[in-house]
Amino acid sequence: MTSSSLQETFQARFVERLRADPQRAGPPRPVRGAHYSFVDPSPVGAPKAIAWSEPLAAQLGLGPDWPNGHDRAAVLAGQTLLPGMQPYAMCYGGHQFGHWAGQLGDGRAINLGETIDRDGVRQTWQLKGAGPTPYSRSADGWAVLRSSVREFLCSEAMFHLGVPTTRALSLVLTGDQVLRDMFYDGRAEWEPGAIVCRVAPSFVRFGSFEILAAREEHELLRELGDFVIREHFPELVPNTAPTETLPPETYLAWFREVATRTAAMIVHWSRVGFVHGVMNTDNLSILGLTIDYGPYGWLENYDPSWTPNTTDASGRRYAFGAQSRIGLWNLLKLANAVLPLAKDVEGLQEALGAYTEAYDRGWERMLAEKLGWTAWQEDTDGALLQDLLDQFGRTETDWTIFFRRLATIDVGQALDPETLRKALTPSFYAPEALSADDWGRWTNWLLRYQQRSQREGRSADQRRAAMDAVNPKYVLRNYLAQLAIEDAERGDYGALERLQRVLTRPYEEQPEHEDLAAKRPEWARTKPGCSMLSCSS
Ligand code: AMP
Ligand code: MG
Repeated sequence: MTSSSLQETFQARFVERLRADPQRAGPPRPVRGAHYSFVDPSPVGAPKAIAWSEPLAAQLGLGPDWPNGHDRAAVLAGQTLLPGMQPYAMCYGGHQFGHWAGQLGDGRAINLGETIDRDGVRQTWQLKGAGPTPYSRSADGWAVLRSSVREFLCSEAMFHLGVPTTRALSLVLTGDQVLRDMFYDGRAEWEPGAIVCRVAPSFVRFGSFEILAAREEHELLRELGDFVIREHFPELVPNTAPTETLPPETYLAWFREVATRTAAMIVHWSRVGFVHGVMNTDNLSILGLTIDYGPYGWLENYDPSWTPNTTDASGRRYAFGAQSRIGLWNLLKLANAVLPLAKDVEGLQEALGAYTEAYDRGWERMLAEKLGWTAWQEDTDGALLQDLLDQFGRTETDWTIFFRRLATIDVGQALDPETLRKALTPSFYAPEALSADDWGRWTNWLLRYQQRSQREGRSADQRRAAMDAVNPKYVLRNYLAQLAIEDAERGDYGALERLQRVLTRPYEEQPEHEDLAAKRPEWARTKPGCSMLSCSS
C-alpha cells in the first residue's frame, strides 16, 4: 500500500455506531434523540489554500499529490467530498461561564469522516467554518481569517510543544466575506471567511455527555459512553464485556482516566504559559486534548490573574492561575452527567480527588523540571518556588524567557552579582526600574537556588539541555500571531509561514529567528488582538 492510498476511502464509525437525527440539515433547532445530524458544508465563492501542515499530512499518510485527481482547496473547503465522506455535525451542550447553556453543538464545524494514520490511529477530519448546521442557533456558521489563523498556528505549535491537542491540517480562504462585530460595540465589519481542517481522534466534549444527561436520554448517554470507551479507551474494556453494555466499574475507571488526562493537559498549559480563555464544558475534550482555540493567549509576564478573553475580564474565571480549579469544576459537571452510567457517587468523588492529586503532583514535577531538578523535594522546593513566584509579582518577568535564561547560569561556579544581572535582565520587562533592594532579593533567591541545584549533581551542559527540553524558546506570542494576521489580511502569508516553521522546533535555538523569541514590545501591551481578545470569531 502506498502512503497516499492510506486515506483514499474515508470511514464513518461515529456515524455508523451512533444515532442520526432523522432530519437532514434543516434550520437551527433543538435536536433530540440523536448524537449528530447529517449536513453538508455550504458552497463557498473561491476556495484558496493558504497554509498546510506538512508534519500532520505526513502523519496522515497524505502524499504530495493528495487528493489525487481532485482540487485540494475544494476538498479542504468541503466543496468536493471524497469517497466515504458523510458530513455531519455533532450535538452537545455545555456550561458557559458557570451557567448551563442547553444545546450548543457543532454550530459551524462539520465532520467529514475518519482515516487511519501511520500509527494506526483513527483520525476524524473536521472543517471549522464550513457553513450553518442545525446547531448554528442565531449565528452564521462561518469563521473569519483572523481566528482561523490563530487556530491553525496554535494547534500545530501546541503539538510541537508536546501538549495534547487537536491538530490543524490546512487553512483555506473561502473567497467570501463574513460580517463580524469584533468588539461587540455595534461597529460590525466585513472580514475574509476561512476554514480550518482540524484533525483529532475524537471531537467529543464533556458537553456531549451533559446534553444527553440533562435531557434524561439515558439510552443515548450509554451508547455514547460505550462508543467513546471502546473506540478510544480500549484498555479499559474488560474481557468479559464483549457486548455493547459496559459495567459501571468501567465507566468509573474511564471517568478517572479522563480526570487524570485533564490534569496532565492543564499542567502542560502551565508549563508553556498557555491560557485557554474559554474553558466552558463544551470546550473540554473527552480525550484530554486542548480543543477550540478561541480567545486564548500566551502568558508574557507571569501573572496568575491574567486572562486574554475580554468577555472574562471582570470575573477572570478562566485566568492562567484559575485553570486547574476550572478543570475540576468542569469534571464535576461531567461526573454528574455520567452518574447514570457509573452509578457510584463516592467513586466519582474519589476520582475528583484523584484529579486534584494528579494536578498538584504534576505541577510540582513540572516546575521541578523547569527549574532543572530531577524531582520535587518536599523539604526545600515549596518555599523556593513560592519565593520565585513572589519575585515575579515584584519584578515583571517573562515566563518563557526567564527559564531559558536561568538555564544559562552555571550553578557549579561562584555566582557574582554581575553575572546574575546579565543572565536575568533579558527576561525583565522594566529592568531599569529595579532598585538595589530588588536586585538584592534576586541575588538572594539565586544563591538559594544554586545551593538546591548543586544537590542534583548535573554538569552545566546536562542541566542546560534538560531545562531547554522542557522550557520552550519559541511560543506563539500574542503579538506575533496578530502581526501574522494583519499581513495575511493583506494577502501576505510570509509571516504566517515563518511562524509555522519556527514553531515546529520550539525548544531549539534558531539564531536567525531570535526576533521571534523576544519579549512583547511595549506597543503590544494594550493593543487589541495582542493582549485582549473577544470571543467574536
Ligand atoms: P465557542 O465559544 O467557539 O466554543 O462556541 C460556542 C458555541 O457557539 C458552539 O456551539 C459553536 O458551534 C457556536 N458558534 C460559535 N461561532 C459560531 C458561528 N459563527 N456560527 C454558528 N455557531 C457558532
Ligand atoms: Mg467551542
